[in-house]
Amino acid sequence: MHFSELGLNAEIQRAVAEQGYDTPTPIQQQAIPAVLAGHDLMATAQTGTGKTAGFTLPILHRLATGANDRLTRIARTPRVLVLTPTRELAIQVEESVRTYGKHLPVNSLAVFGGVGINPQIANLRRGVDILVATPGRLLDHVQQRTVDLSGIEIFVLDEADRMLDMGFIRDIRKIIALLPAQRQNLLFSATFAPEIRELAGSLLKHPVAVDVAPRNTAAETVKQQVIETNREQKKELLKHLFETRGLHQVLIFSRTKHGADALARMLDKAGIKAAAIHGDKSQGARTRVLSEFKEGKLVALVATDIAARGIDIDALPYVINYELPNVPEDYVHRIGRTGRAGMEGEAISLVCHDERPQLRDIEKLIKRSLERVVIEGFEQSAVAAPRPPQPPRSPRKPQGQGKPSGQKPASRGNRPQQHHSGNRHR
Ligand code: AMP
Repeated sequence: MHFSELGLNAEIQRAVAEQGYDTPTPIQQQAIPAVLAGHDLMATAQTGTGKTAGFTLPILHRLATGANDRLTRIARTPRVLVLTPTRELAIQVEESVRTYGKHLPVNSLAVFGGVGINPQIANLRRGVDILVATPGRLLDHVQQRTVDLSGIEIFVLDEADRMLDMGFIRDIRKIIALLPAQRQNLLFSATFAPEIRELAGSLLKHPVAVDVAPRNTAAETVKQQVIETNREQKKELLKHLFETRGLHQVLIFSRTKHGADALARMLDKAGIKAAAIHGDKSQGARTRVLSEFKEGKLVALVATDIAARGIDIDALPYVINYELPNVPEDYVHRIGRTGRAGMEGEAISLVCHDERPQLRDIEKLIKRSLERVVIEGFEQSAVAAPRPPQPPRSPRKPQGQGKPSGQKPASRGNRPQQHHSGNRHR
């Protein structure tokens, strides 16, 4: 399928072609016709699927060609509202609107907290067609009467699951109450947990459902490797991989914020430029780290699952799972960060004994077994059938001699059940 078959406005098609895209992604193929037809939409899709263009393109088309065609630089009240959980995502979405709407006379603006409100007020006064906002700051504007939501024709809730995780449900409900009853609603979420379904039920009218969870796409296109090793050797192994494989622009996943910080420090000390990104970092720090990573000043970025969701980088070459996620779907989200849009990507998972249950769950979900690789000097020792110690290759002490008493670090998590606590929304 080609973009030209979607019937989008010629100026929008021109902007898409300038981006070098000719084939719509699966979510775009499904979402664009539904939105163009005026339907409400309930889409399961995460970052990396092309979801942003999936709603931005048809929205621009509707603004430019709809019955209410009054695209003008002096729009007094916004016609489209996109709510996003984070400032980063708000910026990214608004950038997409600019990119795809660059040949149309459309005004867009992102408003979010953590920065001065006055420049936003001045921009709102100039007239905005498409407003992208985080909930808290939008409500500040509502309170100060610097925004009028009574003219909203299309409402988009992006990353709804994350919004709920972040405790925005009351703000969202307040905002929805300010919108005109007659409008089109689009809801995007990576998961459809019961709370999201409940929200969808009250928000959407006869929605078209689109599901492009990357279940098979990413799992099939990304080259995946499992390196079996011991928990205590993972740090050395990680350094070894950087030294021997010439890795660059690597997104490393850690299960905890604390772990992410520790890993970034360890790599940095070893001369591999790295930084951590997670929810405890200030917006400023996150934005800075992200742009350094994009520019190639940082070789590695260590992230938690939640923090990584807001990261938008084209064609990320490598993802390393330093630890496997507790929830198998997160594995698919993680590896979906690489090999996007037809680019080559590689995902490497460092797996120790106590992560075997997670690995099993992942393989069950993606319906294939992953290639196991053994790296000399970092071989996984047998726990069930103890083996004599392996000769050390790395400067660190060999671990995992097979005696439970000698395996302090492993004792932390060697009960498989502990890994199924389902705390994906930490
Ligand atoms: P998103 O899921 O919206 O964060 O988009 C993921 C990335 O894919 C973005 O960097 C887009 O620029 C890119 N992208 C979106 N649509 C296409 C397409 N049809 N072909 C190639 N790349 C795309």
